[in-house]
Amino acid sequence: MIYSIATVSISGALEEKIKAIAAAGFKAIEIFENDLVCSNLSPEQIRAMIEDLGLRCIVYQPFRDFEGLVDEPRRRAFDRAERKFDLMRRLGTDLLMVCSSLSPLASGDHNRIAADFHELGVRAASRGLRVAYEALSWGRHVNDHRDAWSIVKAADHPAVGMVLDSFHSLARKIPTDSIITIDPQKIFLVQLADAALIDMDYLAWSRHLRCMPGQGEFKVAEYVAALQRIGYQGPLSLEIFNDQFRSGLPLDVAREGLRSLMVVGDDAAIGQGYPRALPPRAICHGIAFVEFTAAGDDAVRLAEMFTALGFRCSGEHRTRRVSRWRQGNVNFIINEDSTGFAHSFDIVHGASICALGLNVDQAAPTLERARRLGVGELVESSALCQMGIPALRGPDGGLVYLVDADTTCKLWADEFVAVAEDPGEDAGILAVDHLAATVLQTEFLSWISYWTSLFDLVRTPQMDVLDLFGVVQSQAIEARDGALRLTINSSAGRRTLASRFVDAFWGAGYQHLALATDDIFATARKFHDSGLPILPIPANYYDDLEARLGLAPELLAMLRASNIVYDVDASGNSFYQLYSRAFDKRFFFEIVQRDHYAGYGAVNAQTRLAAQARYRVNEQNLAVEL
Ligand code: MG
Ligand code: MG
Repeated sequence: MIYSIATVSISGALEEKIKAIAAAGFKAIEIFENDLVCSNLSPEQIRAMIEDLGLRCIVYQPFRDFEGLVDEPRRRAFDRAERKFDLMRRLGTDLLMVCSSLSPLASGDHNRIAADFHELGVRAASRGLRVAYEALSWGRHVNDHRDAWSIVKAADHPAVGMVLDSFHSLARKIPTDSIITIDPQKIFLVQLADAALIDMDYLAWSRHLRCMPGQGEFKVAEYVAALQRIGYQGPLSLEIFNDQFRSGLPLDVAREGLRSLMVVGDDAAIGQGYPRALPPRAICHGIAFVEFTAAGDDAVRLAEMFTALGFRCSGEHRTRRVSRWRQGNVNFIINEDSTGFAHSFDIVHGASICALGLNVDQAAPTLERARRLGVGELVESSALCQMGIPALRGPDGGLVYLVDADTTCKLWADEFVAVAEDPGEDAGILAVDHLAATVLQTEFLSWISYWTSLFDLVRTPQMDVLDLFGVVQSQAIEARDGALRLTINSSAGRRTLASRFVDAFWGAGYQHLALATDDIFATARKFHDSGLPILPIPANYYDDLEARLGLAPELLAMLRASNIVYDVDASGNSFYQLYSRAFDKRFFFEIVQRDHYAGYGAVNAQTRLAAQARYRVNEQNLAVEL
């Protein structure tokens, strides 16, 4: 496969874009007209730069409002095309992309359109050039690739082919099977983009909200699979119009783009008997441990919080200031060493979650997949790596250890000295339910790509959650059996809790960790006894809950007494949530009881965010209630 990217997909001046695209490892590029028009470089200079960097310009685009005209407008359209043919010769590309017309003057008569393309093909061929027709999803008369294909067939000229663009096809829900009827020799270019499924105007959706394959909800891999099935061998090119990428760092966005093409190409090959280029994604079987970094007094207070949550210190590291805390199947580590990775993380971010240990069958294929994709560089310096537990760099800069079950046992037995556990009762915590990351808006899609390209995780529909001071975008991704659940959250509002977290934390990180219990009322009673500070939920919430759900008075009274929020899904499955107050207004714990309920209680998130926003830091740096 030849992987390519349109210059419109990334930020910067044209020369910066070309350099970034080459540095990311692409071999081909689409030159977007506006980038060229705004450049000080001549077409010859652009061509030289492209060729010097080992790239090939595969298309010049877009050429608009060409077909279906008569008289003077038709003559002008052909003249414009001839001028672009001149330019293409200077630029060193042989393909012009023609988008379906929006002109109010244009006829939708397929015979006339086909005749226009035949003539354009004759003129292009006389100069050794080709043209390719793309059905824009908002085209006036032609907005379906099946129509573009019938026109290209009718134009019947070897220099006339078509462009398939996954956005236009999938936004309009055109069956992907329809690709199978197209002659692969007549597909001159395939452009790929993904998008979240939103019911909105095609033009606005396309111009602002395209994203890379795998970051949205379109079935792009199926689209590529259909192309593989018919034997399409031409370029796969990203054409991503996205507000975040337009303001992102060009090299980072280009790298992420190339990675998305490698992944979607490989995913498409699955099930078709084609050789796979990449080792499979890791299946995560659970969370082996969550490591917190904390220094000095922070470490003491964190240990107190763990104790109040029902955790017990069960081991001390043989040589380092690292302790293991256990409850149910949950292992927390407090790392207060004054050297090493966790210490560096603490200096940058303060007390926080600095590493996750994930249970996988075998680490090696995941490490190889990550290496090939150039994501999550392998970290070899940490103490655990030295004992054979490899770690990838997480998207937050923290570590993601890949541990198999044997190594986990060895870790606790060999590295830690067991300490006599305090015999106090635990709080009924059984497992980690989910982790919630809060990230910069510009990193939101990268987080999704990181997790879904390395691990076998599926996405649930994106949600918007209301904070008192803005909107928070939230995406859940989870293992098919729920063994790993993550939510990724970001906000454009500067004053939302999510944005204040990212500011205070100096970057993205895990803002809350949800722990599962099977008796949340018993757990709440333990917390009452242990003195764990709980986030108070307003009485109005319970009045509304009563009105909405008509709960039994006894259940409602229990929820109200314990500050537990509640949801029930359409099948009658319940979800209970209880929140700790935040540790230094940084991260907090959520306790959930999930009775076959699949979601994350999004309906309650606004109540929780408002309750948290009532606590502010005053001028003396003390948390106060508003
Ligand atoms: Mg396109
Ligand atoms: Mg949560």
